[in-house]
Amino acid sequence: MHHSLEYYKNKVVLITGAAGFVGSHLTDKVLSLGATVIGVDNFITGNSANLAQHWDAAAKKSLTEGFRFIAADVNQPPLEYLPADITIDCIFHFASPASPPRYQEHPVETYLVNSWGTHQLLDYLRHHNPTGRFIYAGTSEAYGDPQVHPQVETYWGNVNPNGPRSCYDESKRLGESICGVHTRDFDIDTRIVRIFNTYGPRMDLYDGRVIPNLVLKALQNQPMAIYGDGRQTRSYCFVSDLVEGVLRLGGSDQTKGETVNIGNPGEFTILQTAELIQQVLGSKQEKPDIVFEPLPKDDPLKRQPDITKAQLLLDWQPTVDFKAGLEPTIAFFRTQP
Ligand code: NAD
Ligand code: UDP
Repeated sequence: MHHSLEYYKNKVVLITGAAGFVGSHLTDKVLSLGATVIGVDNFITGNSANLAQHWDAAAKKSLTEGFRFIAADVNQPPLEYLPADITIDCIFHFASPASPPRYQEHPVETYLVNSWGTHQLLDYLRHHNPTGRFIYAGTSEAYGDPQVHPQVETYWGNVNPNGPRSCYDESKRLGESICGVHTRDFDIDTRIVRIFNTYGPRMDLYDGRVIPNLVLKALQNQPMAIYGDGRQTRSYCFVSDLVEGVLRLGGSDQTKGETVNIGNPGEFTILQTAELIQQVLGSKQEKPDIVFEPLPKDDPLKRQPDITKAQLLLDWQPTVDFKAGLEPTIAFFRTQP
């Protein structure tokens, strides 16, 4: 075990967005490290099936020692939904719609959870538990359509403040700003992880992100839709690698106030992404059937993390390459109705 993960043993950890794709994997790992986990979710984009291994929803009963689930909106003051007798050691604020179609479907909920929700959780720490840690799920979207490539944490980004993606990008940036205020002005221990495109089992097959969308089309024997010319790039991180990086950031004694990129630097065009998916699907046809559709407004042309800081500070780097990660991901998608 990496030494910083020992931090979690016997800690009480609050995970917002616990029924989501990333939040549920975080929950699994933090429980396995010996912590008590309180998972909170309002299911706006989450799925109770992601927690079925720990929580019997019908009986409202924990199946794993140390796990509690609370259905609540985290824009409320935490005292309204948390058990009164509890002291939280550490909060992972991972609640937020994450795919472009989903956050554009829920723009108000998206900007609120990243701004007001972040404020509520930090205000709670400030007044009730000022030694607690706070790990914020930031995003590579904070870099917008980047003019610096690959993206380093010191780059301030190129974001349209009033475009179709800004309910997400700008509220994530405000969330970072709220963390900064609480660390600089009130000495609260915040850490920001800028997450680059993450994929893996439990990703919602219908949430419109590129990997599930292309797989869905192929499984339905329809052509994959490529937006634009397909030469834009993304860099995909397998969820277990992401979770390891996030937990090292949260568990380290050296990372108070730090902002760290976590992602896989392997960079692929969308056309290459479609071809790799086709290979892993194992179809006889070598090239996928594709149709070109218009590129959505403000769609970033390239994205790749510079992970030097994570390597130095957390001794972290991804271990699962894209093809290896696609295998279990596609196997999961095949189980979905
Ligand atoms: P997800 O949609 O699967 O999970 C988000 C969860 O948050 C859902 O279960 C949803 O119901 C819950 N939620 C949203 N608003 C809430 C509220 N007000 N109160 C309680 N629960 C609420 O998305 P994900 O991919 O697991 O993303 C998790 C976090 O990581 C998000 O903050 C996202 O912005 C961030 N992130 C993810 C990626 C990625 O590639 N998956 C990339 C960058 C950042
Ligand atoms: N994309 C695509 N076809 C799809 C879904 C997405 O070509 O069915 C493209 C999209 O335009 C973007 C990239 O794939 O350039 C990644 O999109 P996604 O929504 O997964 O995430 P983003 O990184 O843009 O938030």
